[in-house]
Amino acid sequence: MAEKNDHTLDKLREGILQFQRETYPARQAEYEYAATHPQKPHTLLITCADSRIDPEALTASSPGEIFVARNVGNMVPAYGEMMGGVSAVIEYAIDALQVSHAVVCGHTDCGAMKGILADAGSLDAMPTVKSWLRNADAAKRVASTVDDGPTSLKTMTEQNVLLQMQHLRTHPSVAGALARGALSISGWVYDIASGDVRIFDEAENKFVSVRDTATAPVNQEKLA
Ligand SMILES: [Zn+2]
Repeated sequence: MAEKNDHTLDKLREGILQFQRETYPARQAEYEYAATHPQKPHTLLITCADSRIDPEALTASSPGEIFVARNVGNMVPAYGEMMGGVSAVIEYAIDALQVSHAVVCGHTDCGAMKGILADAGSLDAMPTVKSWLRNADAAKRVASTVDDGPTSLKTMTEQNVLLQMQHLRTHPSVAGALARGALSISGWVYDIASGDVRIFDEAENKFVSVRDTATAPVNQEKLA
């Protein structure tokens, strides 16, 4: 086991050296600016811990732009239920860093969502995960009413994002910022295979591909 670990650490070490050889020099000014100025991220992004999600790459963000909180299933425990890392990140992002937007980002092929839909006994060997996934209980119930027949992974994933957005609004810092008009919230589902992101559209009451919604402003910018 030690050998395997050493091999993994070697791979990580090589990655750091590659970063120092290639990425850092190419973006040195950005990193130096980030190091000498207080961080002022514009967005709090809450997403799943799934290793296939790369939030900075997905949003073409630079260091200092997005404040990221990750956990199994992109959950936001409702305020007061589980005071811990997620609640502290939210409070800090809103009150101290004053982000103007918060995102709850789910994704396709989410192991947490699959676990929720699977037989309840399948998580018995992981009691902590099992307990954590209870943050999505209401989403599971709602999802079961949306689909005819068994709940699809797509519906479960979407309903979970919507529920976690609701939970986010129960945090006093968020509620206050929303009331002041200082914060907006969006819910996303990232499709790992296609690279697309679908964002919840309240008017249409469904998730809409960013490819369909982003066209107008991008074109206007190009024309200007
Ligand atoms: Zn996931």
